[in-house]
Amino acid sequence: MIFAANFKVNHTRVSTAAYMQALAGRMNEKKVEDRVLVFPPATALDAYKGDFTVGAQNAYPAISGAYTGEIGVMQLEEFNIKTVLIGHSERREILGESQEVIAEKFQFFLSRSFEIIYCIGEPLEVREQGDEAVAAYLLAQFEGIDTHGEKLIVAYEPIWAIGTGRSATVEEISSTHKMLKSHISAPLLYGGSVKPSNIQEIIGVDGVDGVLVGGASLEVDSFMALVTA
Ligand code: PEP
Repeated sequence: MIFAANFKVNHTRVSTAAYMQALAGRMNEKKVEDRVLVFPPATALDAYKGDFTVGAQNAYPAISGAYTGEIGVMQLEEFNIKTVLIGHSERREILGESQEVIAEKFQFFLSRSFEIIYCIGEPLEVREQGDEAVAAYLLAQFEGIDTHGEKLIVAYEPIWAIGTGRSATVEEISSTHKMLKSHISAPLLYGGSVKPSNIQEIIGVDGVDGVLVGGASLEVDSFMALVTA
């Protein structure tokens, strides 16, 4: 299983360092063999030691240059970071990233051998229209994306389930993952209000290769409860 923690705009450098140290110790103690990834905010990226991968929540598709407010490959390579999250719904919806911009980022980081966690998800009004509408919406988010890359992980995150406390049902996850798996060969994560109380049923769903977690990843105890579920 793959367990990925997305801190978003939470944690500082100091609290991230404490988190990583605690996580490394706890994973060691529990002899965790699953894949664990952590995406701290850009200011807290560093070369942390532990049996987990540190990735960037976002990066600009450039090595370096005049892109005020962004970070590029040069800033990631300082810490040997070779994993990046692309297409998160908060970047699509709040930061206004179009599919074209997302595909450009994807191609750039793919060509530089980055591992990419590529996020897709539908809004509630699409989910309410039924499975066909959901499939069409999600598959459109693969436009310009090479879904056969070796270093690709896809995360299905229904927008209406992110940070709302309302996870998709087991049936919704199962049918959506089944549909997506007929189009991609990459591991497929589910994300959206995953927490210790629902982790068992979610990772038990056929076609779920892991989870991408926001809120419930912010405390080491809670994230470890998912990893060891
Ligand atoms: C996310 O933002 O990727 C996410 C799944 O958040 P949460 O777990 O808080 O719903």
